[in-house]
Amino acid sequence: MQFPNKKLLLFDLDGTLIDSVPDLANSINFMLQQLNKNTFDENTIRAWVGNGAKTLVQRALNGENNDHALEIFLQHYKNHLCKTTTLYPHVKETLEALYKQGFTLAIITNKPYAFISPILEALKIDKYFSLVIGADSLTEKKPHPLPLLHVSEKLGFSKEETLMIGDSKNDILAAKAAGIESIGVSYGYNYDEHISVFEPDAIIDDFRKLLNLLSPKIAIIGGGIAGSSVAIYLAELGLHVTLFEKKETLVDGPPICHLHAGGNLYREISDTQCLTLLKESIELMHLYPFSIDKRPTVLITPKSDSHEPTDLLPRLKKLQEYYAQLVKEDPKNKLLGEVNDYFQLFSKEEILNLQSKTTPHNPSTFEEWMIIVAKEVSLEDVKFPFIMVQEYGLNIFRLAASVSLMLDSYPYTTIQTNTEITHITQNADSFTLSYNNTQEDFDYLINAAGFESGIIDDMLHFHRERFIEFKAAYVTQSNYNSKIWPEVIFFGQRGTPQGMAQFTPYPDGYFQLHGMTKEITLFEKGLIKNSPLSAHPKLDKEFLEKIYTQWRSDEVQQRTQKAILHVSRFIPSFKKSLATQKPLYGAQQIPGNDADLRAAEVSFEGERYARCEIVKASSVLAMADSIVQTFLLLKKPYRLRSFQALKILQSQHIDEKASTLAIKRDYPKSLAYLNHPLCYNSRYTSGETL
Ligand SMILES: Cc1cc2nc3c(=O)[nH]c(=O)nc-3n(C[C@H](O)[C@H](O)[C@H](O)COP(=O)(O)OP(=O)(O)OC[C@H]3O[C@@H](n4cnc5c(N)ncnc54)[C@H](O)[C@@H]3O)c2cc1C
Repeated sequence: MQFPNKKLLLFDLDGTLIDSVPDLANSINFMLQQLNKNTFDENTIRAWVGNGAKTLVQRALNGENNDHALEIFLQHYKNHLCKTTTLYPHVKETLEALYKQGFTLAIITNKPYAFISPILEALKIDKYFSLVIGADSLTEKKPHPLPLLHVSEKLGFSKEETLMIGDSKNDILAAKAAGIESIGVSYGYNYDEHISVFEPDAIIDDFRKLLNLLSPKIAIIGGGIAGSSVAIYLAELGLHVTLFEKKETLVDGPPICHLHAGGNLYREISDTQCLTLLKESIELMHLYPFSIDKRPTVLITPKSDSHEPTDLLPRLKKLQEYYAQLVKEDPKNKLLGEVNDYFQLFSKEEILNLQSKTTPHNPSTFEEWMIIVAKEVSLEDVKFPFIMVQEYGLNIFRLAASVSLMLDSYPYTTIQTNTEITHITQNADSFTLSYNNTQEDFDYLINAAGFESGIIDDMLHFHRERFIEFKAAYVTQSNYNSKIWPEVIFFGQRGTPQGMAQFTPYPDGYFQLHGMTKEITLFEKGLIKNSPLSAHPKLDKEFLEKIYTQWRSDEVQQRTQKAILHVSRFIPSFKKSLATQKPLYGAQQIPGNDADLRAAEVSFEGERYARCEIVKASSVLAMADSIVQTFLLLKKPYRLRSFQALKILQSQHIDEKASTLAIKRDYPKSLAYLNHPLCYNSRYTSGETL
């Protein structure tokens, strides 16, 4: 049974949230010793708890009503309230998730009121509760319905919106008498009787299961960076998520190599998109800190280009101002270095001066990073100044590793890899998904199928305009093994033979090259738009073969050689580099009508269907925010920016998992590591150097 419409959750305390029996038993035995009576073991006393202090003392005295005994007990218990009392497993994180989801939480217990707050404070759960009712707060206590009705009325909720959760018959009887639904927990006290005897509406044996009962069922199709990140976001909130991915592993789509912390690689996009990418990139760094390669990017304008390097200055200043604002709003946003160092210009004289310096093993200042560029770039063919900016690398293998380790840590999130959704039916308030000869209903559906999103749209007869673009970057190895490079961009007009060249460093002399010409990264007919008849743009067979089977190796070699020549126009020594076997490639969607769009998030059909439409990985958190808000999954607005699952991650685990993934996907293991030794990277922090 699901309870999707509840807003107010009433919790019993002892036996439901906390195991207080050890402290209660100590105080009962203290009282018995004071009265020269025999003491009892903890388990015997456990069966007496649940009807308040007076009844507990009576039970210990074999039915005798003794005010003096009660006083001794209460005095002792008051002084030893939380000595050995503990929260039941998973209570804290579940309360935290319910609180984040915006439920209103209250406690109704038969414990004397004065004891409650000190216990909640000692166990650090006091902040979650809007109201606390003890045995002596009202004229009646459970199993009377009064406390439940009083709380729901006082907090402004109907009986239908209210749910009682408890371990004993008093909780269930009170709920039934009040006309409120109830969930029984089977691990509590309840006088040695199973809670099922009293027929609560549902029973749980683990407190975490509450989250599944209260949450609607949400399906995500596609375990790329979009679908996996939404799954993490929803799982952190304790929502009931199933992620379907047809491939064997997550985040195995087109490449993701740059963080775009300002979008400076794209001169053609608007300032507004650049500012959005800056903000979103900083947010992404909070979610995937182990995947960020903190090395700057050098922007160089060739003489053949019609623009001047300084044309970028107004935009860079705007980005710097916006970065300053973001850091002011929250100092934790200072992830791109000092605000004043967001970018720096290098004149020809400064570059010539750097040529005589020794290339540092471990660059840290902008000057140190620039030395290798000053030495290796052919200065006759380029304009000045050079611009160095805090645009970083984003490593897809480390992203894939982070995502899968984080998702493994959520107990009630279902990850179905090797599972393709083949058919979907839309019902009045749900969707029926077909996969592996199975059908399953979900309340909400999130289409995160990347370039195949249109296929899912078509299954549901939703129309949407989009482009698909097939692109590739090439992996090479050079003899620069012992040198740490920044990223270097040589601008040029997209789609022409002078198209931009991107030189992206990885450890051990590996480089990834983009060349924005039709012979290298872009392809003739590689960018296509959908027709009015379908939401899915149809790529030519040659691209689909590359995506679903593999590339011909002679074609890979030819294109990689062209990429090497394209870069070595400006870095002559790079000519000697070697091509490796497999490019990083794939098709991505660009929603709408503007093929240059780079900052995009999500669109909706009604209130239960979302379509993830990120063009850059950095947009995933803004996308998740919108989904949660539009689906009204939370009872109050909340933007999640701190992730519990991150606490279990260690760079060493990411290294291991990422390198396993790189090898499994036929790429050199070195691509799984970060280029810069100061980044999170156990290989270097453990002392090994390049
Ligand atoms: C050459 C190139 C370089 C790029 N560089 C960058 C970069 O530097 N930085 C950046 O941010 N972005 C970059 N991008 C863009 C980036 O790769 C994409 O925006 C991003 O991967 C999109 O992620 P996604 O999760 O939306 O889609 P995908 O990664 O494509 O994930 C969609 C998933 O859905 C699954 N799926 C589809 N249909 C079904 C189904 N019916 N059932 C189950 N599963 C299904 C697929 O198997 C796939 O795994 C680059 C793209 C290319 C092509």
